[in-house]
Amino acid sequence: MDLMNYINGRFQAHSGDEWLEVLEPATGRQFARVPLSSPSDVDSAVLAARDAQAGWREASQSERADWLDKIADELESRYEDIASLESRDTGKPISLARAVDAHRSVSNFRFFAEMVREHQGEVFEMPDATNFVTHKPVGVGALITPWNLPLYLLSWKVAPAIGMGNTVVCKPSELTPMTANLLMEVVDKVGLPPGVINLVHGDGRGAGSTLVSHRDVDLVSFTGGTLTGSKVAEAAAPQFKKISLELGGKNSSIVLDDCDIDLAVKGVVRSGFMNQGQVCLCGSRVLVQDGIYDLFVGRFIEEVESMKIGDPSDEQTELGALISAEHLKKVEGYIELAKEEGGTVLTGGYPCLPKPLAGGNWIAPTVVSGLKTDSRCSTEEIFGPVVTVHRFHDDEEAVRIANNTRYGLAGSVWTGDTSRGKKVADSIHTGMVWVNTWLHRDLRAPFGGVGDSGVGREGGKWSLGFFSEATNVCVKHD
Ligand code: NAD
Repeated sequence: MDLMNYINGRFQAHSGDEWLEVLEPATGRQFARVPLSSPSDVDSAVLAARDAQAGWREASQSERADWLDKIADELESRYEDIASLESRDTGKPISLARAVDAHRSVSNFRFFAEMVREHQGEVFEMPDATNFVTHKPVGVGALITPWNLPLYLLSWKVAPAIGMGNTVVCKPSELTPMTANLLMEVVDKVGLPPGVINLVHGDGRGAGSTLVSHRDVDLVSFTGGTLTGSKVAEAAAPQFKKISLELGGKNSSIVLDDCDIDLAVKGVVRSGFMNQGQVCLCGSRVLVQDGIYDLFVGRFIEEVESMKIGDPSDEQTELGALISAEHLKKVEGYIELAKEEGGTVLTGGYPCLPKPLAGGNWIAPTVVSGLKTDSRCSTEEIFGPVVTVHRFHDDEEAVRIANNTRYGLAGSVWTGDTSRGKKVADSIHTGMVWVNTWLHRDLRAPFGGVGDSGVGREGGKWSLGFFSEATNVCVKHD
């Protein structure tokens, strides 16, 4: 299958003849080709979005909300297609693709339909004047997304962006373009006005960076790696574009000695290894209090070793393949580094898999102990199924260790005393912390990080705020 860009309401071939093979992570086999778009393709998409601006910003909130609902309905009718494409494209288990990716892609559109429909400006009274605050569209948005949660993250940006009256150009990861294509089929089918949502495929160099620095792009919402984020920020800053950066993470799971061990083991395993550890929120450093260290680590290893790894299309599979051979190499490099840094691999290695999966990017979930808490492996983002475990003495030490990375995205605390958990959580310098749970999301709550994990917040009213310009008209009383 050869994918096409979607510009001005039409699927269009890209202008050049460069392609990238789309490979199945589980087998290494090619199953599609994605265009490597050129600057002129990006230009056409931005122009289409610019031309569609006037009409779209005039649509009422409730009209735009109705469009979001129509997209949600159509996406819902393709629920299984989303799950199977996402599983094949990313290597994640089908059960996860269904429960997380397909589910959230639909609910993102539904959630923002409701928010946009109900959104109202604010009024601030003064003794002699009234302030009327309205939220106007920003203009043309560039929406750039990574490969780990392709449609989940793209829909998280598209829905509030167009809901608030912007028109957009999407640039999904070149490694996982299939469900972005599906979204364009949906948009086409429901008959959204041409130019409101456009899509250019391609890599960061040819399409991504051209899009970010395009003169007619007014805002950039980027989710991806920290290094790429800094390049995006550098390109966007001279033109004062509105920018949101959701970047990498190195998150701690803090296990306190009064925790419910069964709950904590299950929660910390899920947090460490969901999607093969390729979720920005994954708890890849596990800090365990002295008194329960041996008990917890023993149970943790048992649970990790019981996970079923293999064919992503098998309903029983819990762990799939890593996204690419290159990424596998990076993860293997970190495991080697962990040994050089003095760590002990408690479990890991390579899974024994059937022949058809031999060409895939496979590695077993790996747990390393004995590393210093400031070692590279325990402070840098590995973004794979590799977790380091560390011992701490008291709550202050746990907080100190949790805060000793440049990242500040998320974390979790496991305890039998929720007020103790809340106190520890409040001391962690990250955008989000869970107590006795992980990745439990209320879409109204803010999402985002500090430090190397990014700038800005998305989610609920924060998304509506980012994808709009708050404007105040102050009327002096007669
Ligand atoms: P990446 O930074 O390599 O790529 C992300 C996107 O940016 C892709 O679409 C890519 O083509 C594009 N891109 C690359 N160079 C660009 C440039 N110079 N200008 C514009 N666009 C460019 O990230 P990845 O490897 O796809 O994703 C993994 C990273 O994403 C991890 O670091 C992970 O933590 C992070 N992530 C963060 C969140 C979050 O919400 N904070 C969510 C998911 C993933």
